[in-house]
Amino acid sequence: TPRIFSGIQPSGGLTLGNYLGALRRFVEKQGQIETIYCLVDLHAITVWQEPERLRHQTREAAAAFLAAGIDPAQSVLFVQSHVPAHAELGWMLSCVARVGWMNRMTQFKDKAGKNAEAVSLGLYAYPALMAADILAYRATHVPVGEDQKQHVELTRDIAAKFNHDYGTDFFPSPEPVIEGAATRVMSLRDGTKKMSKSDPSDASRINLTDDADAIAQKIRKARTDADPLPGSMEGLKDRPEARNLVNIYAALSGETPDALLARFEGQGFGTFKPALADLAVSVLEPITRRMNELMGDPAEIDRILLAGAEKADAIASPIVAEAREIMGMIRGP
Ligand code: ATP
Ligand code: MG
Repeated sequence: TPRIFSGIQPSGGLTLGNYLGALRRFVEKQGQIETIYCLVDLHAITVWQEPERLRHQTREAAAAFLAAGIDPAQSVLFVQSHVPAHAELGWMLSCVARVGWMNRMTQFKDKAGKNAEAVSLGLYAYPALMAADILAYRATHVPVGEDQKQHVELTRDIAAKFNHDYGTDFFPSPEPVIEGAATRVMSLRDGTKKMSKSDPSDASRINLTDDADAIAQKIRKARTDADPLPGSMEGLKDRPEARNLVNIYAALSGETPDALLARFEGQGFGTFKPALADLAVSVLEPITRRMNELMGDPAEIDRILLAGAEKADAIASPIVAEAREIMGMIRGP
């Protein structure tokens, strides 16, 4: 049976990239198919998180999900660390995954940078925990942004090796679902870098908590070139910053990038940027407003997350118990 699982790290405030590449897709899937969405705090701690901030960011991420339209009656929404099956299966799958596979993960290389000896072991092992997140629910579809494709493919390899080694077909082969106009939103400061919530530069991203002035200012200051816009995407091949702004606009307006460029052909960023800022504000403002309302009652957010964790645990715990048995652990209490 088809089942969606996906997650977002509460490693900072959610960005426009998270919204267009992930959260908005999550909302679209809801109601069509079983949907399970997780705030993956165990992933967030692979890099240093100040404890009080992590708690705040986790509640704020939950508020973003709810504000964007995730309905806890239709989707399971919960915090990863509340459901022990994730960490447990994560360890079991660490013993299935190979070091050589991990060494090929480009996100680790990006995040570790030149300091690969000094980062946490968790940052290196994290894709095995992500495989566990997905496989603990025997999920079949994983909506993600382009940057997570390699990790979902690794999950398929881990599932296949588990099945092969133990002579079973227990784990399905989950498919990455990467669709829409903005599967890879780029930094506003550098058109070759992904927009990320953990980028040290706040000017590189639009946060879901930014107000209209901040959004307008960041778009005004976004790096671009001086050339006018061409009539189609073909003309933006060597202009990554311009291409990014056009893709963001198209994703927000629901047009194709080519249709959008047909309207803006020959115009400069002096015209395009204010139009983009107005559009971004009109889409994000209602979400930000609702997030702020929800954050006024953190106890209610916690209640929703705990109820979600109970539902998640009821699905994952028997699956992990069965995986334990397949691996040869004697039946527990
Ligand atoms: P971090 O910098 O801490 O890794 P992040 O912004 O990359 O944060 P994640 O929590 O790692 O966010 O990713 C959550 C989801 O958002 C994933 O599905 C990921 O593919 C998607 N996503 C992240 N950044 C972008 C982006 N710039 N464009 C489109 N999708 C994105
Ligand atoms: Mg990320």
